[in-house]
Amino acid sequence: MRPIEYVIDTDDRIVAAAGGWSEFAAENDAPELSPARVLGTPLLDWFAGDDLRQLWRELLAVCRRTNTARTFPYRCDAPDFRRALRMTLTPRPDGSLHFRSVLDHQQQRPRLELLRRDIPRREQFVLLCSWCKCMKMPSGAWADLEIAVTREGLLNGADMPQLSHGICPSCRDLLLGGPLQPASGGPWTGTASVPRRDLAC
Ligand SMILES: [Zn+2]
Repeated sequence: MRPIEYVIDTDDRIVAAAGGWSEFAAENDAPELSPARVLGTPLLDWFAGDDLRQLWRELLAVCRRTNTARTFPYRCDAPDFRRALRMTLTPRPDGSLHFRSVLDHQQQRPRLELLRRDIPRREQFVLLCSWCKCMKMPSGAWADLEIAVTREGLLNGADMPQLSHGICPSCRDLLLGGPLQPASGGPWTGTASVPRRDLAC
């Protein structure tokens, strides 16, 4: 997969989408994310929920204020694949921000019906962390997605709940409570996400 790249201007509108963006949208059966559809739209409109939008506002503000590129790992799964990506967010002198995501690791797995876009859903929601893909369990604890769907009996395509995206406490702490990893390399200490409101991940 080619790197996925996009740029937001000082008003946080997407003004460029290049690299592997088109392929990624196509592979994830998300034609609504084609460059022609997203250009000119506010980046934050692509995130569901006030929590995520506020988190992104803070991240963008920190990046601009410190004028320092940051790199974050994140998960963006497809039904048949676990995917680990790494995003580098780079401020530019004109106040725009450049995003570049590369695929670090992809592993095929038995299909997770929960992530399919083409199945009927019941009224109930389950909450996934947008960064690490953990799922919030009824107990309130967060569990790795594959473990959670097994525990909750969400392994077949019948009677799937709807997906809601937020952020788990661990990822929130990493993003806002501690130092983020400069883009120069080394072990990651933070996580981040790309627009994925309508992606199957
Ligand atoms: Zn998380």
